[in-house]
Amino acid sequence: MSSPETPAATSAALFERAAASIPGGVNSPVRAFSAVGGTPRFITSATGSQLTDADGNTYVDLVSSWGPMILGHAHPAVVDAVQRAASTGLSFGAPTEAEVELAEELIARVAPVERVRLVNSGTEATMSAVRLARGVTGRGKIVKFSGCYHGHVDALLADAGSGVATLGLPTSPGVTGAQAADTLVLPYNDLDAVREAFARYPGEIAAVITEAAAGNMGAVPPLPGFNAGLREITEADGALLILDEVMTGFRVSAAGWYGLDPVDADLFTFGKVMSGGLPAAAFGGSERVMNHLAPLGPVYQAGTLSGNPVAVAAGLATLRNATADVYAALDANSRRLGGLIGDALTAEGVTHHVQYAGNLVSVFFAGGPVTSYAEAKAAETFRFAPFFHSLLEQGVYPPPSAFEAWFVSAALTDTDFETIAAALPAAARAAAAARAQ
Ligand SMILES: *Cc1c(COP(=O)(O)O)cnc(C)c1O
Repeated sequence: MSSPETPAATSAALFERAAASIPGGVNSPVRAFSAVGGTPRFITSATGSQLTDADGNTYVDLVSSWGPMILGHAHPAVVDAVQRAASTGLSFGAPTEAEVELAEELIARVAPVERVRLVNSGTEATMSAVRLARGVTGRGKIVKFSGCYHGHVDALLADAGSGVATLGLPTSPGVTGAQAADTLVLPYNDLDAVREAFARYPGEIAAVITEAAAGNMGAVPPLPGFNAGLREITEADGALLILDEVMTGFRVSAAGWYGLDPVDADLFTFGKVMSGGLPAAAFGGSERVMNHLAPLGPVYQAGTLSGNPVAVAAGLATLRNATADVYAALDANSRRLGGLIGDALTAEGVTHHVQYAGNLVSVFFAGGPVTSYAEAKAAETFRFAPFFHSLLEQGVYPPPSAFEAWFVSAALTDTDFETIAAALPAAARAAAAARAQ
């Protein structure tokens, strides 16, 4: 068990040991706490809204595995589905009925999606969607937006958010000049910049890819009409529109961002929630576009473990238990959290702006709404680390970066909100006391 002086001693020892076998001690960079410093907590178990670490500390979880755990951790129906699936075989390399059910579930929720292909990660989903867009259009260039993260796909790792924003990597070593040259990076929420790009490269752009609502530079919703504008511009040029709903899909509503802002993209990408917490993701779109995929068409895409029965069981159980009440709870919990954060920072006179993209919530240490990555980076991000550590020490686990959204679950209880409310005043004082380096 932990002692007050060394609340993370076991995690610290594990982190040191991990660094000897895993680069940076982690299998995904943001877990290393590089942006906030200190010791990443090694988690031993989680149930409902609570995480328990290797020192026996418990935390109210406001990361939810970066999105998937909308029902909370170890939800009985999901655990039961996974156990039943596992007991009848882990992988067959042959089709199963459950894959069809998951595909049908996704199609039923997002109207423009007529066909889906299951993959293993959000990265694979966007990578495959981009390849398909290039294959369908016979064009090479891709437009993406600064601060939007679409996984670690070579061509999309240009001015990306998430861990790349956190680490401030100026570019992506290992990505060739040719791959980068085919990626046009434009400011988010700037339709004029998109019009200019299409005027400059008519008939050359295969697709525009955008987060349906940006969540990887903090929660930055599209301005009203932005996604619809992208639809018009791409359609007029014969390019495709890819809405990346890996983060928003089946979290911000039963139909994802599409349920809040119905723009008929050619391709959608999904992950996180639809995986139930196991490795699964998908991309989908119209029959016309998706039929270009092998085995029907020439665009190759495959996966040994794609549609894995255990992952599919977790995803299906999660979606089937995501009732209207669950979505109402996610929305209410996100507003309640944002309200508490805002009140505490206001009380300490800290300049801030709490903003939402559906039920994704973020706090920017900035004077007004953030609509682009440039604005997100201009905020007083030096206030975030002390704010974060104060919360963590008091049993609240926020995302360990100023450039990430906070993810609520439907499992948060009134007691959890009391813990959060009790922790926020000291955290706000720590933010107020922070000084730029
Ligand atoms: C998380 C995320 C991805 C990448 O998904 P992985 O499963 O981590 O590969 C892609 N796009 C968006 C919008 C995401 O939030």
